[in-house]
Amino acid sequence: MLISEGMEMTAGTIYLDNASTTPLRKGVLDAMMPFLTEGYGNPASIHPMGKAPRDAVAHARESVASLIAADPSEIYFTSGGSESDSWALKSVVLGPHSRGNHVIVSSIEHHAILNTCSYLRSMGVDVTYLPVDKDGLIDPAVVEDSIRSDTAIISVMTANNEIGSIQPIQEIGKIAHEHGVLFHTDAVQAYGQIDLNVTRDNIDLLSASAHKLGGPKGVGFLYVRKGIRLDPLIHGGEQERGIRGGTTNVPGVVGFGKAAELASISMRENSEHERMLRDHLVSRVLDEIPYTKLNGHPTSRLPGNANISFAFVEGESLLMSMAMKGICVSTGSACASGSLDPSHVLLAIGLDHATAHGSLRFTVSSENTMEEIDHTVEVLKEVVGRLRAMSPLYEDYLRNEVKEKG
Ligand SMILES: *Cc1c(COP(=O)(O)O)cnc(C)c1O
Repeated sequence: MLISEGMEMTAGTIYLDNASTTPLRKGVLDAMMPFLTEGYGNPASIHPMGKAPRDAVAHARESVASLIAADPSEIYFTSGGSESDSWALKSVVLGPHSRGNHVIVSSIEHHAILNTCSYLRSMGVDVTYLPVDKDGLIDPAVVEDSIRSDTAIISVMTANNEIGSIQPIQEIGKIAHEHGVLFHTDAVQAYGQIDLNVTRDNIDLLSASAHKLGGPKGVGFLYVRKGIRLDPLIHGGEQERGIRGGTTNVPGVVGFGKAAELASISMRENSEHERMLRDHLVSRVLDEIPYTKLNGHPTSRLPGNANISFAFVEGESLLMSMAMKGICVSTGSACASGSLDPSHVLLAIGLDHATAHGSLRFTVSSENTMEEIDHTVEVLKEVVGRLRAMSPLYEDYLRNEVKEKG
């Protein structure tokens, strides 16, 4: 009963929060089901019950590797993006093969990176936070200027989870390598959304997470280029070639593999559909609702992401009003909601606090329809109008405008 109470929004809900998480894609649960039921064996077991799970995990490892043109032996399954991010940074910097005590990251990373950096600083590590321009992009020349003789690793996300901006990672990776520095990228938002190739893109370490591309929650991987030696973050048995202990999450890994296979088949078609819906949403909102602005790069951005500022309204009120109409959007990163601080990403691209607070993130998936987008725009127009009518800021603004015009 409790579960159904919490799910009462399901029917008729328009879900535009796919950067927070995605529903399981069709076929993923079916792939997982045997390993939640009769195929429950431990893949490490020598007896016959270990065989099917072991084969299935090996197959999934190939599937997730092929989406980034990696070798399956370079994939280490983890509990998700946060673990992969923490593991990459901590192990490289604090490990015995570290080049030094300095880390370079962008100022708009996910909290899995930023809070790992805070921890590293408490351990005496120096962290350089790279600024971004008004579109949320890193300048590779600034990366190069920040490199020191003791820089151990550069970590810049492939695509941002709030504003969708896609970084020039290939150039940043090239610069890192010219200076003998390792390059890590948090590709959680990009994996399965855009074309990635660890060799072409000069990537040494890469984080991905299943639940952002139609796989289950609680499973991800860290890609580690052959030849790089990582210390474990989780000490345990011999799983994952002895550097990530813990009995393998077989159903999760299998679901991840299936989601990766589906993404490799349909990525181009799906991203075209998402881009079309997103562009329609953005152009209608900017045309039909005054005092709105798109955040993030106009073209170098994830196909499904729109982040829009609505002047004179409070994002949380807007979000709640939309939610009451069955439309699920976000005010930024899920981790930041509930806190009163404006998004660090929106501040980093130069928005003032009020504008940052009045911003919404819409992230569409291939499952969304044009009707849903049109309905969302109609609801937005009504809700923004109503909230502005109650806003003292808007009233002041209009009064001044009338005065100025004489
Ligand atoms: C969601 C997300 C993460 C965290 O992944 P989890 O699997 O939920 O731990 C990390 N980085 C980015 C960019 C994300 O969007």
